[in-house]
Amino acid sequence: MARYTDASCKLCRREAQKLFLKGDRCYSAKCALERRAFPPGQHGQGRQRKTSDYGLQLREKQKAKRFYGMLEKQFRNTFDKAAKKKGITGDNLLVALETRLDNVVFRMGFASSRKEARQLVNHGHFTVNGRKVDIPSSEIVPGSVVAVRQRSQKSPKFEEIKEMQISAPAWISVDAAKLTGTVLSLPRREEIDTPIAEHLIVELYSK
Ligand code: SF4
Repeated sequence: MARYTDASCKLCRREAQKLFLKGDRCYSAKCALERRAFPPGQHGQGRQRKTSDYGLQLREKQKAKRFYGMLEKQFRNTFDKAAKKKGITGDNLLVALETRLDNVVFRMGFASSRKEARQLVNHGHFTVNGRKVDIPSSEIVPGSVVAVRQRSQKSPKFEEIKEMQISAPAWISVDAAKLTGTVLSLPRREEIDTPIAEHLIVELYSK
């Protein structure tokens, strides 16, 4: 599976916004955006040009992709599916991004970043409704129970989580002691705190 392999912090600097791609480091003074709040590259500190409407739309799409750790093709497919569903396309897109298995694991508080969540899923540490699922993009529907696999529960990473106080969004119920989370409903737009102006992405892809 193709994935982005360059430095994660460059992406935040490019978007001039914290994308929280590196777990605890993002909340510390070591965050690259705190220390170098300008775009990466030789001309990063040069003159700022006025951004066109297209530029704004493009940046918003890039930011959303990067928040959720997706590449263009996968993101576009997700958008196309969202556009075919009933309702508001932008809302459908955000719901589709939020209900990916890797994002649900991150929202459950079982990983410090979406990147870590994706890795944990890839390594086969999770089940959905009792079945092992190692595909990060799997869609998790309401009523599904996401759990740490029995054989992974003794690892120090998950032992630590059992002791944690987790505050998950209202659409997921987490039982940290049992290492499980239940998706209660689809998230409503107001329950999604990712700072994305989805209408700009819809405008971009509707050209
Ligand atoms: Fe982004 Fe985290 Fe790197 Fe800061 S530490 S620039 S928030 S990935």
